[in-house]
Amino acid sequence: MVRKILQKYGIRGGCHDQHFLIDERILNSIVKEANLTEDDVVLEIGGGIGNLTERLLEKAGKVIVIELDPQLVDVLHDRFPENKKLEVIHSDVLKVDLPKFNKVVANLPYSISSPITFKLFEQDFELGILMYQYEFAQRMVAKANTEDYSRLSVNTYYFADASVIMKIPPSAFSPPPEVWSAVVKIVPRPAPFQVDDPEFFLNLVTAGFLQRRKKLRNSIVKGNHLLKVPDIKQIVNKLPEELISKRAENLEPHELADIANQICRMKNKM
Ligand code: SAH
Repeated sequence: MVRKILQKYGIRGGCHDQHFLIDERILNSIVKEANLTEDDVVLEIGGGIGNLTERLLEKAGKVIVIELDPQLVDVLHDRFPENKKLEVIHSDVLKVDLPKFNKVVANLPYSISSPITFKLFEQDFELGILMYQYEFAQRMVAKANTEDYSRLSVNTYYFADASVIMKIPPSAFSPPPEVWSAVVKIVPRPAPFQVDDPEFFLNLVTAGFLQRRKKLRNSIVKGNHLLKVPDIKQIVNKLPEELISKRAENLEPHELADIANQICRMKNKM
């Protein structure tokens, strides 16, 4: 069925990260995980030929699709004519103000996974069921002291409980991508640790992971163009040695927050 739709519209995919999900079992599981009701407003980023859209429309109250490719926007309109539940926004997801939604369900364009994810972390929503490249998904959920632990891991943990719920082979897509994929479940929640100044904390995390193998003492001083703390060297020297002599990759999110909070307090006193 889904293959037929590709043929009907003569769509090949390939450009704009177009790898359409054609495995019906996986499409159905993704929608099931979203646990949709008529009260839900779902955002889908990159609607493609509408395989996921079709299933979202069956369950949700409203589906808002953002799609960049004008040919695919036409396909979506053609496939779901006059469907009152559907809104298609023809735009680059990175360039629009996102509409209000409470769930986001999508097979994302992988080359912009990172900016899309950071943009989503600025929104207020209840649940995300998102397809990523497998390696990216691994980095999202990575824990401290592992190779994959990164700025992305700390940002993800700060914003949500995230878990990899499915690992997907290239054969589930047409055309098949070169990489494996994974579906990540994202449940936003308040951070499980105190952060006095979120912007400062996130900048400190960025500075720390810019030089992930350096001791935090050095990466903070080097990354002070992001932090803009006067007399940073003096402040860093007052921080507890057991934290500041570790590398970012060996610090738990709450320890990084602790350092950020301490710098903020000292900075405000000076
Ligand atoms: N969800 C569909 C398509 C996934 S492929 C399916 O599973 O079949 C990724 C989709 O994202 C493509 O339709 C592509 O055109 C779209 N896309 C790529 N870059 C985009 C961007 N910057 N903004 C919005 N959509 C984009």
